[in-house]
Amino acid sequence: MATMQKLFAAYKARDAVLASSTNPFAKGIAWVEGELVPLHEARIPLLDQGFMHSDLTYDVPSVWDGRFFRLDDHITRLEASCTKLRLKLPLPRAEVKQTLIDMVSKSGIRDAFVEIIVTRGLKGVRGTDAKDILNRIYMFVQPYVWVMEPELQPVGGSAIVARTVRRVPPGSMDPTVKNLQWGDLTRGLQEAADRGAMYPFLTDGDTNLTEGSGFNIVLVKDGVLYTPQRGVLEGITRKSVIDAARIKGLEIHVQLVPVQMAYDADEIFMCTTAGGIMPITSLDGKPVNGGQLGPITKKIWDGYWDIHYDDTFSFEVGYKDGRKNTSSGPGL
Ligand SMILES: *Cc1c(COP(=O)(O)O)cnc(C)c1O
Repeated sequence: MATMQKLFAAYKARDAVLASSTNPFAKGIAWVEGELVPLHEARIPLLDQGFMHSDLTYDVPSVWDGRFFRLDDHITRLEASCTKLRLKLPLPRAEVKQTLIDMVSKSGIRDAFVEIIVTRGLKGVRGTDAKDILNRIYMFVQPYVWVMEPELQPVGGSAIVARTVRRVPPGSMDPTVKNLQWGDLTRGLQEAADRGAMYPFLTDGDTNLTEGSGFNIVLVKDGVLYTPQRGVLEGITRKSVIDAARIKGLEIHVQLVPVQMAYDADEIFMCTTAGGIMPITSLDGKPVNGGQLGPITKKIWDGYWDIHYDDTFSFEVGYKDGRKNTSSGPGL
């Protein structure tokens, strides 16, 4: 618990500095058609098919304590998503990377949620060959987003297994393409709220667990970790969980995960770029691990934040505002 408090206290201190910043981009910066604008002034063309038909893919890397985390992994997944949708990344990969680094640097934001969106563009696919359509890219950087607030992480959140909605099947919208067709996830969130919980776990409609509203799910049973293989986005945080498990000498299986395994689990956590490792201590109104943060979850939590300071996984952004990066690590 000490390390959690330490990491969050350092974050809060950086966030307080950001809150008092006079930089016009401190609350967010967006790149639209080659122009940089404050995020809240950014506009998209109404006729963009990304808006008209959700004909788009996107990705969300992050910056933590002034260091870009797994940026190449996110851009690689974005390129793969583009290929699956017959979209083409409108800018060279290196230019996307450099633009994002410059945006983060200009904003002065040390802990950032970074989003890259690639849309079909102003023309739809009906009657036009995809390769003849000019795709569009949008990018923005904003202060870090928490799917589970730091205050809640030491205690854990509450989840339900959704029964009024299932996850979209891979034969409909391919869930390995990060997408904004959030109809099922939004219904899940509303069911969770109706049932007095915070997070929905969606099934595949055939008694297996998939994922929730923007996060992957990991179960722990008898010291071994399990996470669903099919019907989910292959999360970069899930990848980090696999790396952290390897570092900590824990066994992890990416496989079919029956819903029953969640009810029998010793520990449960969710994972996403916007919040990291998020413990679940209540499922369908019943305590998980006696309602306490579990030891394996804590190990993965530590491992996850440790690798944010490892040059293999992250690099320093370099800021122009004279403030030094703390980048000293959580001091574990
Ligand atoms: C983004 C997202 C995740 C988590 O992916 P990360 O790469 O770990 O951030 C999981 N599920 C869905 C549906 C998502 O959109």
